[in-house]
Amino acid sequence: MNFNKSEELFNEAKKYIPGGVNSPVRAFQSVGMSSVFARRGNGSKIIDVDGNEFIDYICSWGPLVLGHSSEVITKGVEEVVKAGVTFGLATEIEVKIAKLITEACPSVEMVRMVNSGTEATMSALRLARGYTNRSKILKFEGCYHGHSDGLLVKSGSGTLTYGSSTSSGVSEDAIKNTLVAQYNDIETLNAVFKAHGNDLAAVIVEPVAGNMGVVPAKEEFLKIMRKLTEEYGALLIFDEVITGFRVSYGGAQEVYGIKPDLSCFGKIIGGGLPVGAFGGRREIMELLAPVGPVYQAGTLSGNPLAMHMGYNALTYLKDHPEVYTNMEEKANKLEEGFKKAIKEFKIDATVNRIKGMLNVFFTKGKVETFEDVSKCNTEIYAKYFKLMLDQGVLIAPSQFEAMFLSHAHTEEDIERTIAANREAMRQITE
Ligand SMILES: *Cc1c(COP(=O)(O)O)cnc(C)c1O
Repeated sequence: MNFNKSEELFNEAKKYIPGGVNSPVRAFQSVGMSSVFARRGNGSKIIDVDGNEFIDYICSWGPLVLGHSSEVITKGVEEVVKAGVTFGLATEIEVKIAKLITEACPSVEMVRMVNSGTEATMSALRLARGYTNRSKILKFEGCYHGHSDGLLVKSGSGTLTYGSSTSSGVSEDAIKNTLVAQYNDIETLNAVFKAHGNDLAAVIVEPVAGNMGVVPAKEEFLKIMRKLTEEYGALLIFDEVITGFRVSYGGAQEVYGIKPDLSCFGKIIGGGLPVGAFGGRREIMELLAPVGPVYQAGTLSGNPLAMHMGYNALTYLKDHPEVYTNMEEKANKLEEGFKKAIKEFKIDATVNRIKGMLNVFFTKGKVETFEDVSKCNTEIYAKYFKLMLDQGVLIAPSQFEAMFLSHAHTEEDIERTIAANREAMRQITE
């Protein structure tokens, strides 16, 4: 397999775009390669600019729940384009998708559309602060909520700390109200509330962490979080940008049976176009401008083209619940196949999975916290990634990202992936 054209393009790209990419995950830096440039997608497959074909488990980092270039999603797009892609006025499709999202998630009585997941979490936090008149927020290490200043924070050496920023350019002031605790650590959670509960505007959490590999929350962890936030009058924000409409139609909140105060969405709800949304209880949401004092806006928010494709995606998912059982079955087969090879070749690796998302961690024992994740062997992952790629299977070029299934993945894809994985695991031990 050669990547000549990709390498050429990458070198050209680096002249005009920092690092050659418009989002860092597209750099194949951590696996020691040039970025692969995509040309076309079809169902479960990506064809790159060199003509190589891959079974794709990146799925645009989550949105492509129905696979590439799905006609279900692009249906009617031409008419929308002809009618005008943006007006700066309200359109009917915005009402329809808002209604659909509120029906899918009972905790969401009202919703506001934005243009990215980053905007959704940033706006949800402002709203939480406006509602509670408090400043502090709590997040968990290893959870990613987009790249706004106050959320680019990791914990220091202790388990409960005021964090330090993970990015230069973020001022001390911007993160001084961000507390960071360890994911899935109930003891620390209790301690945070004891010390700061009355000052907390919100706790923001990925109910299934999907940005440090896949680390599902323990049920007890989320239950106690719900109880404590209620007790202390802080809002609970579920960042469902990945999990919304993926782990089930009603998101992780449906799977866990927990009602957050606010929820953030993105990825799947735009059918592949740039989108985000946040929503929750009416009394909170009605604090937003123009009815309330919390300002939030967007020139292209609720864009007709994005809404049209998102609406197509969501109506299909609503009418075809078998998409979810089918994705889960396929992911389960992968999990079983991967585990078998890990055992056969006695590799220090473990597989985490929930519904249609999973990944292989190269470390001993269970992976339940960021600390566990940090122990993974990224060198072995880089080898594994390349061995998979050479066999036509594209997984994330990073140990710390999820593998996503889509409805378009076939039985044959799954069989081929299991075989490729076995071969990769065999070569790793050589
Ligand atoms: C992707 C992601 C975001 C950020 O969304 P963007 O559209 O990339 O800004 C926020 N939260 C979670 C959980 C995500 O996975």
